[in-house]
Amino acid sequence: MKQSDDSGSGVTFDSPIARELADLSARRRALEAVEVSLSGTTRVLTVSNQKGGVGKTTSAVNIAAALASVGARVLVIDLDPQGNASTALGVPHTADTPSVYDVLIDEFPLADIVQQSPESSNLFCAPSTIHLAGAEIELVSQVAREHRLRTALEHYLADDGQWMDFVLIDCPPSLGLLTINAFTAAQEVLIPIQCEYYALEGLSQLLGSVRMIQRHLNPQLHVSTIMLTMYDGRTRLAQQVAEEVRSHFPREVLDTVIPRSVRVSEAPSFGQTVIAYDGNSAGAIAYREAAIEIIRRATNEKES
Ligand code: ADP
Ligand code: MG
Repeated sequence: MKQSDDSGSGVTFDSPIARELADLSARRRALEAVEVSLSGTTRVLTVSNQKGGVGKTTSAVNIAAALASVGARVLVIDLDPQGNASTALGVPHTADTPSVYDVLIDEFPLADIVQQSPESSNLFCAPSTIHLAGAEIELVSQVAREHRLRTALEHYLADDGQWMDFVLIDCPPSLGLLTINAFTAAQEVLIPIQCEYYALEGLSQLLGSVRMIQRHLNPQLHVSTIMLTMYDGRTRLAQQVAEEVRSHFPREVLDTVIPRSVRVSEAPSFGQTVIAYDGNSAGAIAYREAAIEIIRRATNEKES
């Protein structure tokens, strides 16, 4: 028998929605009590998956904002000509804005193009503009074409005034020279996987590319984190995909799963991350939990 409240509204306390709300507020309280300690080193993660629409940009900006909200200094490098990460972080990126294009092609210092996000004094963005669409081809004839981002980032981080705890690179959906620049500049690969059909399709190609970069360009690079996104727990399919990914990558997959959530998809149209737009929504709470896991995992790895 379901227990009814005595207001006569017919609302039941143990309805799925009531349970979900109770669960959310417990998780929110747990997050508020969390204390984090940052590693004291700069972690550079590239958010990659050569499939489009799997949640790369959404994950990059929301993880970045969640990290910033617990005190980390975070730089997002927008390496996708679409500029969606720049939009979500509220950073101007019209064609005449100095951008990652100028860094890669004309060797501008990163410091000349990085902007602070209006969302947080800890959150920064190196914007992309439409010019970046041409960079993929222009880079082909450049000297040190695979290392340009890495060199720029090293110079940037060498200045103490520009200390970052995290650098997240949002990649375009391809394995071209822009993504290779990201792989060469990073230590870690974060792969978002959409809990839908064909989730694992193309993953072996991505892992093959990571191995190739390890061998030839960046021995440090490794897949540290896999994040399940757009999860709809009501479908058998999402559960099956999640189980399958976990069985293949038991160490890499985060415990936190990002639910499919309207608030997450609405936020960019307000030039915001979901952390700023609705920080207590289910999607924001999941991204905040994922960010804590990302911080803790590295700390644990160092201790063990
Ligand atoms: P990618 O960068 O891999 O191309 P996006 O991050 O742009 O993917 O996401 C693709 C689309 O899915 C966007 O419209 C985004 O708003 C939406 N989306 C991403 N994550 C979620 C989520 N957790 N819930 C609802 N919509 C989402
Ligand atoms: Mg994207």
